[in-house]
Parts: sequence; C-alpha cells; structure tokens
Amino acid sequence: MNKLKEELVKELALIVGEDWITLEEEKILGYLYDQTPDPMKPEPSKDVVVVKPKNAEEVSKILLVANKYRMPVFPRGGGTGLAADPFSRK
Ligand SMILES: Cc1cc2nc3c(=O)[nH]c(=O)nc-3n(C[C@H](O)[C@H](O)[C@H](O)COP(=O)(O)OP(=O)(O)OC[C@H]3O[C@@H](n4cnc5c(N)ncnc54)[C@H](O)[C@@H]3O)c2cc1C
Repeated sequence: MNKLKEELVKELALIVGEDWITLEEEKILGYLYDQTPDPMKPEPSKDVVVVKPKNAEEVSKILLVANKYRMPVFPRGGGTGLAADPFSRK
C-alpha cells in the first residue's frame, strides 16, 4: 500500500473505526459491481477502500478527508443499480 493510501486509511479509521474499513480484495469485490448485466458491465478499478459510516456525521467527516487527499468517493446503497457502478473507471 502506498504511503498516501496508508495515511488516508489511518484518518478514515479514526472516523469509523478499523472494523468498518475493508481493504482486502476478496472482501471488496462485492462492492465493485452492481446489477448491470454482464455484457455492459465495465471492468472496475480495484484500488479502492470500502468505508462503512454509521451516520451522516461520519459521512461528512469522510468526505472532508477524501477531499483533503483528492480521492474520488463513490456512494453505495444496495448495489442493485443497472447503470454500471461508478467504480468502473479503469
Ligand atoms: C431486478 C431489478 C429491478 C429493478 N427495477 C427498477 C425499477 O422498477 N425502477 C427503478 O427505478 N429502478 C429499478 N432497478 C434499479 C435499482 O434498483 C434502482 O436504481 C435503485 O434505486 C438503486 O438503489 P441502490 O441503493 O441499490 O443503489 P446502488 O446500486 O448502490 O447505487 C446506484 C447509484 O446511486 C448512487 N448512490 C447510492 N447511494 C447513494 C447515496 N446515499 N447518495 C448519493 N448517491 C448514491 C451510487 O453511487 C450509484 O451511482 C432495478 C434493479 C434490479 C436489479
């Protein structure tokens, strides 16, 4: 993990707690796709951090940190979207 991402993850952990951050690729995979049918499903970027805030206050703090590191943020709901998940920026 590069230094920038390490610092970012440390700051995010201070907001939500380490248990609510996912870095392992096998655990992240489920967040990289929505219900867009296969032929149209683009290849997602896998260099992501999944963060699970518990309330609006944590969301606000996460966005401040993401902005500080100039990191794009992709909100995730139930993952049932059919418009090709925004992660697909490879
Ligand atoms: C079988 C099936 C049937 C469907 N039928 C319908 C239907 O009849 N009508 C219909 O409109 N849709 C339908 N959909 C599409 C889908 O269910 C809807 O678009 C639903 O609203 C997506 O919600 P989600 O929480 O799963 O969003 P996700 O798939 O998690 O996200 C969808 C988009 O919304 C953004 N997003 C999610 N949460 C937030 C947030 N809190 N703030 C800002 N942006 C956010 C994501 O970044 C992404 O761009 C269907 C999907 C399936 C699989």
